[in-house]
Amino acid sequence: MPRPIQAHIDLNALENNLHVARHATSSRIMAVIKANGYGHGLLRVAQTLADADGFALLDIQDAIRLREAGYRQTILLLEGFFDAADMELLAEYKLTSVIHSPWQIAQLAAYPKRKKLDVWLKVNTGMNRLGFAPSDVAQALELLLCQRAVRDLTLMTHFAHADEARGIGKPLQLFNEIAADYRVSRSLANSAALLRYRATHGDWVRPGILLYGASPFADVTAAQLGLRPAMTLTSRIIAVQDLRSGDEIGYGALFRADRTMRVGIVACGYADGYPRHAPNGTPMLVAGQAARLLGRVSMDMLCVDLSALPDADVGSVVTLWGEGMPIEQVAQAAGTISYELMCALAARVKVVV
Ligand SMILES: *Cc1c(COP(=O)(O)O)cnc(C)c1O
Repeated sequence: MPRPIQAHIDLNALENNLHVARHATSSRIMAVIKANGYGHGLLRVAQTLADADGFALLDIQDAIRLREAGYRQTILLLEGFFDAADMELLAEYKLTSVIHSPWQIAQLAAYPKRKKLDVWLKVNTGMNRLGFAPSDVAQALELLLCQRAVRDLTLMTHFAHADEARGIGKPLQLFNEIAADYRVSRSLANSAALLRYRATHGDWVRPGILLYGASPFADVTAAQLGLRPAMTLTSRIIAVQDLRSGDEIGYGALFRADRTMRVGIVACGYADGYPRHAPNGTPMLVAGQAARLLGRVSMDMLCVDLSALPDADVGSVVTLWGEGMPIEQVAQAAGTISYELMCALAARVKVVV
């Protein structure tokens, strides 16, 4: 029997979540499938979300893989091209590139083949990561629009606070002021903005996390948004320890029993993608019942308190996150976000659909 850890990918949940997005907007939907579809599998996600109007990712080879698999919708490279050789591939496979920096415009201008490319010009409205400052956008736009290499141009930005109380007021206003001068398509919204701010929908929305069934908001659950978790990580108890008061568990004795207690050893560790920083008390399910992590997570194992679960034993199924165990709760306990947990799912974990 193989090691019992597995990630179940629920294709119906993915479809359901795309419907939630469709319901919330009439704009075209660019499904964000970077990082191997947030850990869910690039081609698996693309196939399930084949109704999406476009796909966004980072790796040009992944983009080519999608084209070669027959997807004909817009495929957007979120960091654009990295060198002149990439540009050849953009043209050949009809991929769309984000243009975020002056060096990319210079490379476009020097591009000898003069095949037409579609580009999305990125405006920096305050995140200060990628994109042109509002005062530089006009010049960048003029440069791009007069280039024969550019066929279609979309103006985009990305919000730093769409999921928080601070919201999108100022960056939205900045973006709209710039975009008002041009008749080009617009794209602004990630999952949070798509769900919360209609005024950001523009021509294209770019949901990522919501497609995978996690809430982008700290104060609203996925279930409240009608989302269903697409990834459920489960394993089993492979050993049971009976501790006496004073006994310790695992590396560094992060947990010390103050009474007799039963502890289950679960075949799941940080090498599977479970966060090593998850503290004592991080929630999980054992045979569908609430339970808590004890001690330090090690490479291949972690420990769970079975004191209140007398029926749990070797072989009991443990749900680390997913159906019944919101990934946001695990992420919050471990001081991270659902995105990081999904993306960190290790290649050694068997995926079942
Ligand atoms: C990752 C990403 C998204 C999707 O963000 P979610 O919060 O997962 O919806 C949208 N736009 C850009 C530019 C991104 O990098």
